[in-house]
Amino acid sequence: MKEKIKVVQQLLAEKGLYNGAIDGDFGPKTLAAMDKVAGIPQNLPQVRKITMMIQLGAREKGFNSGAIDGMWGPQTQFAYEELVYLQKFGRASDPWRPEDINPMNRWPRQNSAAFHEFYGLRTKNLVTMPVPYEMKIAWDMRYRARKITCHKKVAESLYLVLENVLKIYGENEIDRLALNRFGGCFNNRLMRGGTQWSTHSWGVALDFDPARNQLKWGRNQAAFAHPVYNDWWRCWEEEGWVSLGRRRNYDWMHVQAAEI
Ligand SMILES: [Zn+2]
Repeated sequence: MKEKIKVVQQLLAEKGLYNGAIDGDFGPKTLAAMDKVAGIPQNLPQVRKITMMIQLGAREKGFNSGAIDGMWGPQTQFAYEELVYLQKFGRASDPWRPEDINPMNRWPRQNSAAFHEFYGLRTKNLVTMPVPYEMKIAWDMRYRARKITCHKKVAESLYLVLENVLKIYGENEIDRLALNRFGGCFNNRLMRGGTQWSTHSWGVALDFDPARNQLKWGRNQAAFAHPVYNDWWRCWEEEGWVSLGRRRNYDWMHVQAAEI
């Protein structure tokens, strides 16, 4: 909460309504300043006022903060993190641009002849290998996994990616950012809503944190579109893996060792 109050104090100071310390303490000066802001009802509980101020401030800076309702949801969280970034670095975080991603073409294109030649038949050539950090099973968080079953031709690369993620983020951040929320790898099934086989059927695709990166969500909703995940995607893309989210702006949970 202290960090949020600091952001609010900074916003109020920029508006010329507050000249106290940016210390994260919600004192009478901060309260008086906030009560001068149009659009924030005076009779709201403090926590909601703070949230509303952040939503308003974010909107004024051009970030999509959703409804100005004083309720803290994922959209407010994104807008808040953008605000923190802006206040810290004096500029908005780097915009995500799909054209900046250079396809490495390390892996064959999905559904192509080269793909079938390289990976062989569905459900074959699988290996079960240990992973560098423990996964929580997304659909039942009571369960943990230390092994993933995938195609033997991607196993080494997958291990390198996850090892790098561990190096960059560390166990605590991995958990906080849900990079360990494993939504599955090998799964012999059709593409969702399609008639072609999913790359999961060969064990060359993985899903992470499906609840916060739903199939049809774009980058205004999907958690993994947020800048804090840029390094996560860099780890995959350095190994040539393809994110449908980063390339096509849907299915942000999904990453695969196949070009599209
Ligand atoms: Zn998937």
